[in-house]
Amino acid sequence: MTDHLTPDTSTDGATSAAGGLLEQAVRSGSLAIALVDAQGTIVDATPAFIDLLPPEAVEAGGALRLDALFSPDDHRLAAGLASDGAGVLRIEHSGGPLALSLGSLQPVGRLVTLMPFLESPCIDKAVSDPLTGLGNRNALKQILAQWQAEADPEAERVVLMIDLDRFKQVNDTLGHPIGDDLLVHVAGRLERTLDGDGAVLRLGGDEMIVVYRDDDYPRQTERMAQAIVSRLARTFLIGGHQIDISASVGIACFDPEEGDTSRLLMHADLALYAAKTGGRNQYCFFEPHLESAAQARRDMEVRLRRALALEEFQLVYQPQISLSDGSISGFEALIRWVSEDHGVVLPAQFIGLAEEIGEIHAIGEWAIRTACREAAGWDAPYSVAVNVSPLQFEGGRLVTAVASALEESGLDPGRLELEITEEALIDKTREILEQLWTLREMGVCIAMDDFGTGYSSLGYLRNFPFSRLKIDQSFVGGAPDERSRTLVSAILVLANELDMTTIAGGVETEQQHQILTQSGCVRAQGHFFAPPMPPGAIAAYCAGVAKTVGAG
Ligand code: C2E
Ligand code: MG
Repeated sequence: MTDHLTPDTSTDGATSAAGGLLEQAVRSGSLAIALVDAQGTIVDATPAFIDLLPPEAVEAGGALRLDALFSPDDHRLAAGLASDGAGVLRIEHSGGPLALSLGSLQPVGRLVTLMPFLESPCIDKAVSDPLTGLGNRNALKQILAQWQAEADPEAERVVLMIDLDRFKQVNDTLGHPIGDDLLVHVAGRLERTLDGDGAVLRLGGDEMIVVYRDDDYPRQTERMAQAIVSRLARTFLIGGHQIDISASVGIACFDPEEGDTSRLLMHADLALYAAKTGGRNQYCFFEPHLESAAQARRDMEVRLRRALALEEFQLVYQPQISLSDGSISGFEALIRWVSEDHGVVLPAQFIGLAEEIGEIHAIGEWAIRTACREAAGWDAPYSVAVNVSPLQFEGGRLVTAVASALEESGLDPGRLELEITEEALIDKTREILEQLWTLREMGVCIAMDDFGTGYSSLGYLRNFPFSRLKIDQSFVGGAPDERSRTLVSAILVLANELDMTTIAGGVETEQQHQILTQSGCVRAQGHFFAPPMPPGAIAAYCAGVAKTVGAG
């Protein structure tokens, strides 16, 4: 049994959980649910539950006890109550056998549900989730069936699907018991947010759902969604850990005409996806265009999965110029997908999808292999920079992929540079740092890309000696303005002090070029010098630059 009873240290205390727990059960209609204290006394119960108690237990007055449902020599209930865990017991009843589901013990007691006994009952057939005491998928089915049966012209019935951003990271870094505790705390906060209006259910993992009746749609729902997002963004203190997560919420309305509950959940799921891709920590209502967007995304996913086999990827190379003399010092490899249906697709349109569907490993390895092979064929030993997705560090395959690309191509490791973003270092830092050190020991250069845009934690710079800092083009684009100039200068000083060389991206004008040169930036790239070019154009470009530099 997980020890998940750590009190919620958030400002919204745990004391109102009793009302919340029971309310959600009551709201779920004709369910037979009771809240029972640790000794087996029924603290509160739905009418359906009371109806199932033997008449003599009810008529006797005084405290109602759960053991009224058991024969006096049946000790299973006592054993169940002695544990704080959940379980299901088959009991005989005048109306036919019943499955009695004991929810896990919470500070306020535990939920007990009664339902007709089904063959081979197991915990997932009960309506309550053993970890959080919330209703589970079965409870949701019952609620939706009830919505289906009852017309309610006065209100919209709404489903809010909630996904915890970064929950996996909590599990991975702090362990599953803390992850379980977090879910219990989240459940508590959700129930307090609802304050008796509607029900919170847990469908599995960190997937929770709020079902809700809004008679002032969409205003109430918006308020509710906003309250959920802001409550879950507050810090949790669990087992001595300060945990900051956030939540994304997808909202869909029940349509009695549709009569298809899986569609309702699909709509909520699509809205949730939109909330997540829109930046997380927000809510989104379902809109019909999300369905066609999802279809287009699925089509693209199929084509992307085939693209490697069809040899639809290409690398283009953008020159990196040494600002001291205008000579070429290297090239950045940038991937392009030349799709039969879509033409040239830029990485911003498919790298995210490739990351989501796991294709990023194969695509990223292809990029490293191809860049090494092509660079090995260049006339001069220019460096070649390859962008690496943070996900490529997962599973430890990156080091092997780089080693075999270097070996296959014969490229001097010192000519290969991997560009990683700060995002790669946010989690699992130790695991990633080990890989970065191995790559460095192999002689490969590591550059921090887009510096200044993400978290810009100087801790990352302390933890790993990057060879190069790449100043993001957003600073360079703003270089004429005083503040951006100051920031660029500060980054250059910092890099210099830490023994890293610098490169500025996105240089588009002579003025930016001048400013960067005067500030002491070492390299630059951008359309001012040259746009990314296909491999076949490199030799002619290099010859042209050599002439100019030679002439200058
Ligand atoms: P990045 O690493 O910051 O690459 C620079 C981006 O700026 C490139 O866009 C480049 O074409 C563009 N750029 C270059 N000069 C200028 C300029 O003067 N002005 C402006 N406005 N833009 C300029 P691109 O090729 O669309 O790549 C976008 C991003 O996609 C890259 O950003 C990189 O993060 C990612 N990417 C590209 N190739 C790969 C790859 O092989 N693997 C992975 N994982 N990511 C890649
Ligand atoms: Mg880059």
